[in-house]
Amino acid sequence: MLAARLAGTLDASVTRFLNASDQNLGHLEVQAAHDVQGLLRETLRRAAQTKADATPPRCPVCGQPLTRCAAGHARTFQTRFGEITLQRTRGYCKRCRKWRTPADSALGLEDTAGYSPGVQALVALAASKLPIADASLVLEHLSGVPVPPATLDREARRQGQRAQALRTQLDQQAATEKRQPELVLEPYQMIIQLDAWSLRERDDWGQTDSLRRRGQEPERWHWVYTGTVFRLDHRGQTAGGRPVITQRGYVLTRQGLDALREQMQGEALRRGLGQAASVLVIGDGAVWIWRLADDRWPQAKQRLDFYHAVQHLVAVGRALFGEDKEKFKAWIKPLVRQLKNESAVKVIRQLDEALAGLPAGPEAQTVAKEIAYLREHQDRMDYRAGRRAGEPIGSGPVEATCRQAQCRFKRPGQFWTQEGDEALLCLETFWRNDRWARLFPHTAFDPARN
Ligand SMILES: [Zn+2]
Repeated sequence: MLAARLAGTLDASVTRFLNASDQNLGHLEVQAAHDVQGLLRETLRRAAQTKADATPPRCPVCGQPLTRCAAGHARTFQTRFGEITLQRTRGYCKRCRKWRTPADSALGLEDTAGYSPGVQALVALAASKLPIADASLVLEHLSGVPVPPATLDREARRQGQRAQALRTQLDQQAATEKRQPELVLEPYQMIIQLDAWSLRERDDWGQTDSLRRRGQEPERWHWVYTGTVFRLDHRGQTAGGRPVITQRGYVLTRQGLDALREQMQGEALRRGLGQAASVLVIGDGAVWIWRLADDRWPQAKQRLDFYHAVQHLVAVGRALFGEDKEKFKAWIKPLVRQLKNESAVKVIRQLDEALAGLPAGPEAQTVAKEIAYLREHQDRMDYRAGRRAGEPIGSGPVEATCRQAQCRFKRPGQFWTQEGDEALLCLETFWRNDRWARLFPHTAFDPARN
């Protein structure tokens, strides 16, 4: 028996380890994992084949019995413990008008280029966290599964596309679901924060030379729209006093504002938008943010990120005082304090006075422009009331999300394609939103309780 032979092999490995003065426990860890691999692979293969043989010849999509069934369709794929080959039955579904292999869906092998569900999940996670070449090396180092960069890239995108399809389905569900009204003990506020950052992409593959000849660079920058949503009562502090948000939803998409709007709405609904007493949208002043908020959450309160508002005061200060840092500081400090603790109206009034004292020229133009901006957003700068109500006045959480995503998705020399990066961004949101197990159910499975 294999298992008996394995016991002998392991004993021999232990003996060699004990006799080798240059081997530490790490060496035995590598050796033992290697020793059991064959048994594990054979166990997997046998079990998979038995389950494949026992799978009834029905269409996995519509349930219709298949016709023209033929056994013996071989398929080889990579598992956590090595490559295995299975024989499956294939048949034709008259209703779907498609050839089907029911064993593949029973085993989780449908949407893959040749990887078991265990490896699919590893590939998806590695690719959404690391650049592809690193992902391939790290994955092999940690799991022993060799997945070359090109196939890792392809497989991760495939999993990402599967995630996108699931996301669309979940968003539609959230939009149409008639939820039982939960008993809300304390009314809560929903906070939505929106931002965007850009990604360098290559649109015209294969045309690099002809583009360059025309003096164009074969790359473009595209916006990745980013949003985060949380309940105000889910914001708290760590024991050390650091602010934390215990439950938070994320959206990252580069498919434009319509996609952002629908995904954000779905995420907000799943996080309790339907029960919220009120909604607050915070953004950095980009026009699309307010348009989207007006359109999708017309009842929501809107707030300009406090730090962003301060940047406009800084611009006025520079125009007024140029390089005179002392005068600049003395001028801006009380204004920032007033903006935070008193009112924007009061601050703008002082800017008006400063403008009145300026001679016509570029400085006056700058100051006038900034005043116009702040006046336009005056109603979005109710920082005093916001602070009193315990609401955030800045868009820190969404900016942090942007920074983290940029660390992964924006590296020197890295180019993206539209479909490819949406797939990977989608995987990243499934991970962040604690929805990984919806994509890879086995990752939530506890073998100790099986
Ligand atoms: Zn069918």
